[in-house]
Amino acid sequence: MPLKETPDIGLINRITEKFPTPFHLYSEEKLRKRVRAFLKAFSWNKRFTEYYAVKACPTPGIIKILQEEGCGVDCASECELMLAEAMGFEGEKIMFSSNETPAGEFAYASKLGAIINLDDYSLIPSLLNEGSVPERICLRFNPGGEFKLGTFVMGNPGDAKYGMTYEQLRSAIIDLTKLGVKEFALHAFLASNTTDSSYYPTMARLLMNTAVSLKNETGAQFFMINLSGGIGIPYMPGQEEADIEKIGNGVREAYEEICVPNGLQDIKIASELGRYITGPVGWLVTSAIHEKHIHKEYIGVDACSADLMRPAMYGAYHHITIAGRENEACTHKYDVVGSLCENNDKFAIDRMLPKVNMGDIIVIHDTGAHGRSMGYNYNGRLRSAEVLVRENGEIELIRRAETAKDYFATLDFTGVLDGVLSHSK
Ligand SMILES: *Cc1c(COP(=O)(O)O)cnc(C)c1O
Repeated sequence: MPLKETPDIGLINRITEKFPTPFHLYSEEKLRKRVRAFLKAFSWNKRFTEYYAVKACPTPGIIKILQEEGCGVDCASECELMLAEAMGFEGEKIMFSSNETPAGEFAYASKLGAIINLDDYSLIPSLLNEGSVPERICLRFNPGGEFKLGTFVMGNPGDAKYGMTYEQLRSAIIDLTKLGVKEFALHAFLASNTTDSSYYPTMARLLMNTAVSLKNETGAQFFMINLSGGIGIPYMPGQEEADIEKIGNGVREAYEEICVPNGLQDIKIASELGRYITGPVGWLVTSAIHEKHIHKEYIGVDACSADLMRPAMYGAYHHITIAGRENEACTHKYDVVGSLCENNDKFAIDRMLPKVNMGDIIVIHDTGAHGRSMGYNYNGRLRSAEVLVRENGEIELIRRAETAKDYFATLDFTGVLDGVLSHSK
């Protein structure tokens, strides 16, 4: 079983001298390597763009690196668009893939020149009301039924709230063309967190064939096939990595077979990966602060689900190691738990680890996507800092830890709060 690499204890000690646990840690070196390898697998497509799904890790220190590597961003809300604007993304470097879109957001997205990914036919009047029918627009497809790879059911688009039916795509194209749209793109997101190398190629074929028949039926021009997110990572040691070269080649074969002979040879392929890009380059670093021996053995840590919700929310597995003791035998069975008054606040249940000593640094792996970003403040818990280790080894605080003042910031506590805060840490 291949071990998951734990950040070096020397590095962690250097960080904890400056910043106390818990914190999210990211590696610039690993992030750049990862995104470069991904982009290389699709470099056969001249206009290929990865629109990083900012919801996975909406931290400028991370997104800046992806921006330098040539990525765009995929946003779904006003604040995510504001983040994109503040970081200097503009025009078609931004995808706006929202659904149940609140009033005003299409206008903002168009002001930035973003590619709007229209989730539904019924949103066309909103575009009109906001005075913003663009010349190029993306349409989100929901093929319904089950989405299978071979005989394996990967997802149930028929139960998903996203996208529109084929007939609605066709009507949308006819109506939008009358309203001045000149070129279209197609998008779908049909499976989540899959390392199966046939996912992107299968969906690429589906979208390309759909574009060809829409083109034949309506005469519409297509400028992009957006494969969206969904490529997964091996959260468990021993689980297979997605074979990114094979995935890139599979999409290329689909392009050559379907796009080239049907007049779509100039089409741009796009992705909106979040998890695949940043998931494995982040760790939640926390300290063992309590042990409890009742009907089970518990290790209490100074992080909680407010820092990483996935185990509590989905029962998701995140690998755990003890910094500096990665190679010791796992002889003890523990529940590794946070402090929330919720019994699902457990990073691991019945996990075999070496005997944990108080003060040990516990490293929770693969938290670089949907970690800090899914954080919350239940029980008055504050979200942790984010630390980036630079390629040259320098340590940079890219987001400070929340303080009590942040927690109370939305209340009108003027005057009262100063007294209370003066005796907090
Ligand atoms: C969440 C999301 C993504 C990214 O998904 P990952 O599983 O992180 O790859 C991409 N596009 C859209 C529209 C999304 O909602």
